[in-house]
Order: sequence, then structure tokens, then C-alpha cells
Amino acid sequence: DDEKRKWVKGKKLGEGTYANVFAAHLRTDPSQKAAIKKIKVQKEYRDGMAPDALREIKHLQELNHPNVVRLISVFSSKDQNLNLVLEYLPLGDLEDLIRNVNTYRYGAADIKAWMGMLCRGVWFCHENFVLHRDIKPNNILIAANGEAKLADFGLARSFSDPAIPMTTNVITRWYRPPELLFGARHYSGAVDVWSVGLVFAELIIRSPFLPGDSEINQIDCICRAIGTPTEENWPGVTKLPGYAVAGETVPVYGKDAYMGRFGAVGADGVDLLMKTLVLDPRKRITAREMLEHKWWRSEPKPTRNEDLPRKT
Ligand code: ADP
Repeated sequence: DDEKRKWVKGKKLGEGTYANVFAAHLRTDPSQKAAIKKIKVQKEYRDGMAPDALREIKHLQELNHPNVVRLISVFSSKDQNLNLVLEYLPLGDLEDLIRNVNTYRYGAADIKAWMGMLCRGVWFCHENFVLHRDIKPNNILIAANGEAKLADFGLARSFSDPAIPMTTNVITRWYRPPELLFGARHYSGAVDVWSVGLVFAELIIRSPFLPGDSEINQIDCICRAIGTPTEENWPGVTKLPGYAVAGETVPVYGKDAYMGRFGAVGADGVDLLMKTLVLDPRKRITAREMLEHKWWRSEPKPTRNEDLPRKT
């Protein structure tokens, strides 16, 4: 309750799928701004659930890194909604930059800068045993200094299951890895790496690479654009509870196919992209290995933050 009293809630900044976001400032120092994300806790989860969720995310307050949105504090309100006090990031998200083709022009050096920040944020969380599970362009927010930051890291979905939409918003499945689509119950940081690869692809082509319109169609998109998961390329995949692929087996695409579509980031960039989009999660590159990739050192060098295209 003390935590709650520290903050003065201002105007609504936006409405998400499972949360409302408000501007806020410190009562004792109005120059200290924040965003309060008020998570709508589903009725069926309310009793007893909020305190659990609160405990579960408290430890995320210690997760401090320039490329991860800082969780300043957490409190629950009397309606048992969960309130997250977050670092204030007023310059929109990566989705705005990607989709507004006429407003924002960017090239390989800019993509390298954003990808570097994304990969460092993901690496840091994985080092600390925290998974994201929902990386997508609109979860990558831009700070006033141009730094890209991952939002909503480690927010367990249990307290407000996005599978049950609160609004008419459809939950995006475009960034979901094949192991989750096949219902794997044990998964790893590789799930985030897949999503990072899809953000990378989208930064290049400026539209979603695998825009499935249902779970089945999402698997179909993966098969047709990347290749069909089989026992040969992914031992054990056919034993996953939800394994199902339609149509003819598509062989996994090689470098030439990727160069045709993603060549703007050069051969080294395409090499990294392909390693993030490996079907078998055990063979997929890890966040740590991504940071050691040769692409970061090849030309062009990443753009400096102050020179990146941004919302004005
Ligand atoms: P979504 O469901 O689209 O991910 P969120 O619930 O995360 O949306 O946030 C809704 C809106 O609130 C965002 O589109 C953004 O404009 C704003 N917002 C979210 N987090 C912050 C923040 N830390 N600082 C400033 N604005 C934010």
C-alpha cells in the first residue's frame, strides 16, 4: 500500500490485451516519471492468485539491464488487480518503426543496432534464468536516448492468461516457435531465440515473415517458409503431443533462398538469421552464441543510438 501511495497516476497511455497503461510520477518528485501497467486479472484467477503472481514477479525488480524495461515496483490494488510500475518509455515501439515504411527509412546498420540491443537484453534475462515467451516488435520499446528495451520479460501468464482474450484483440502467434505450437511441455530459452529471429526477419522485410491466421496455419507457414519438421531434422518431434503437419514434406531451405529475401543484411546477417530459425530447439543458436556471432563485427557497424530513426 505504501508503494501505491508513492505514485500519482496520470492519463491513460494505452490499452493492451490484458492491461491498461497509465502515465505516472513520483508524489515527492514529479520529474520522476513512470508507466503504471494495471493488469486485468481474470475473475476465475482472482481468489488467491494475485498474491502468488505478486511474489512471482517481485524478483524481476532485481533484473536490471539497459535493454530490459526496468520494473521499478509492484503492488496490488484493492480490486486485486496487479500494478507494475515501469520505466517510462515514451518513443513507441519497434512495430511502429517497422510498419511505418513511409515515415521511417532505415538500413542494415540500423537493423544491426536494434538487433544488438534485443540480443543483449535476451541474453541477460536468460543468464538470469528468466524466459520471455512473447517477444514481438510491439514488446520492444524505445527509450528517449534511442535504446531499445524488451518489455514484459518474465511476466508469467498464469495470472492473466492471454489465451483468454480480455478484449477483442487477437493474441499474436506469429512469433511462436514450433515446439510450443506442437505442445512441448518442456521448453527453454530457444523459444525466445526463435522469436528474435522473426523480429530480425521482420525488420528486414518490414512485414511479418510468418503471419499465420490460426495455430494450424501458423505451423503451415513455418513448413512452407522454413521447412517441414521431421524426425530427420528434429529427432523426437513426431512424439510431441500436438505434432501435425499437412501436405508434402518441404525440405529445409538453404542459404540461397534466404539470401534472396534477406540479403540486405549481408551473408553474415543471413547466417545469424538462419541459426535463429532452426526447427529443432536443441540445435537452435543460444542467446550467448548470438552475441558471439561474426555479424556484429562485419561491416556496416551498428548505428549509434543517437543516429537511429525515431519518433519525433
Ligand atoms: P500491448 O498489449 O500492445 O503489448 P501494453 O499493455 O504493453 O500493450 O501497453 C499498451 C500501451 O501502453 C502501449 O502501446 C504503449 O503505448 C504504452 N506503454 C506500455 N508500456 C509503456 C512504458 N513503459 N512507457 C510508456 N508507455 C508504455
